[in-house]
Amino acid sequence: MGKALIIGCGGVASVAIHKCCQNSEVFEEICIASRTKSKCDALKEKLEGTTKTKITTAQVDANDVDQLVALINQVKPDVVLNLALPYQDLTIMDACLATKTHYVDTANYEPEDTAKFEYSWQWAYRDRFEKAGITAVLGSGFDPGVTGVFSAYALKHEFDEINYIDILDCNGGDHGYPFATNFNPEINIREVSANGSYWEDGHWVETKPMEIKRVYNFKEVGEKDMYLLHHEEIESLALNIPGIKRIRFFMTFGESYLNHLKCLEDVGMTSIEPIMYEGREIIPLQFLKAVLPDPASLGPRTKGKTNIGCIFRGKKDRKEKNYYLYNICDHQECYREVGSQAVAYTTGVPAMIGAMMVITGKWNTPGVHNVEEFDPDPFMDALNKWGLPWQEDRDPVLVD
Ligand code: NDP
Repeated sequence: MGKALIIGCGGVASVAIHKCCQNSEVFEEICIASRTKSKCDALKEKLEGTTKTKITTAQVDANDVDQLVALINQVKPDVVLNLALPYQDLTIMDACLATKTHYVDTANYEPEDTAKFEYSWQWAYRDRFEKAGITAVLGSGFDPGVTGVFSAYALKHEFDEINYIDILDCNGGDHGYPFATNFNPEINIREVSANGSYWEDGHWVETKPMEIKRVYNFKEVGEKDMYLLHHEEIESLALNIPGIKRIRFFMTFGESYLNHLKCLEDVGMTSIEPIMYEGREIIPLQFLKAVLPDPASLGPRTKGKTNIGCIFRGKKDRKEKNYYLYNICDHQECYREVGSQAVAYTTGVPAMIGAMMVITGKWNTPGVHNVEEFDPDPFMDALNKWGLPWQEDRDPVLVD
């Protein structure tokens, strides 16, 4: 049916590429392009012979718009799936505009020298994408991504009005290392060491990092400490869910992770301010990334499950109603299927589905859109089909 150009070949991309190759009817052809071409070639070699999808590879520096434009003109994809880092979102969007090609990503733009992520930079492309007649789907991972689709589905089928959303992201997996991150360490540590915030009554309420803690008993995982974080989908859901009063995001962290993070912060290792080391400038957080385990290597060692979802409170037929939509994913099952742990899996599967929605024309509205702005139904069906079945709880325990 179509062709995708996938940019990046790390942990999340590897899962998305495996999934595209399972879905050859939609992804007849993919081109994997990244900074390190040998990684793309290794994946191509692993998958060829197991799939009908034709795979090509290319080297590209996704910070360079000209290189991207040349590559898109050569490959002529129906959609570009951006699975590089948030720093490359704008250059890739520029190249999509120049070539009139649809765009999908999983994380909002973040300038490399400031740990600040928000949608303003990408929303500024709305008019230009609309005029060019191309669709950009922002944030098609799990969170953001599935959490936005869950919200659109709840609004469409379960509520007249949603007033409260609590997004709960629980990783009950254990990789056996005292400290490692489940996706790109630099991006992960920037996210969790930032101030927290939530949306209430039309404005942001800011908190200190890890200031708000709750304990929650997650199905098939058990009781976990979870902490309130700032998270990008809060910003778009606050705009797109009418009647919303409060949105919070909680993520679970173990004591060992938090103690290590505190210690690394205290000694300056999580800083993104450049320092001089033996005559050359280095960024402590990038150096830390180089000594930490590669998240892509955690697959064989990680045991346990993730449980990620949204608790909605609102009204249906004038009555108060609570509703919890979530997915449970087993790290070892993911590893057996695609050679990756569940955090990469829960992101890579929705990334493939987002690209599929665009290629099949189910999500095709020129402009720049967050996932909750589209019809959630085909995406929800695809989650069940492609490895992330969702579950409902109509009487959930609420978070105070
Ligand atoms: P990785 O670090 O494993 O992979 C990033 C890939 O991008 C690598 O292959 C890297 O190349 C490539 N890359 C980096 N810079 C460039 C560049 N300038 N040009 C070309 N390629 C480049 O990251 P992850 O797979 O863990 O994360 C990928 C994305 O997914 C991130 O944006 C992350 O924020 C997002 N994410 C979203 C989630 C969600 O639920 N929405 C959850 C988890 C992650 P090289 O191999 O040479 O380093």
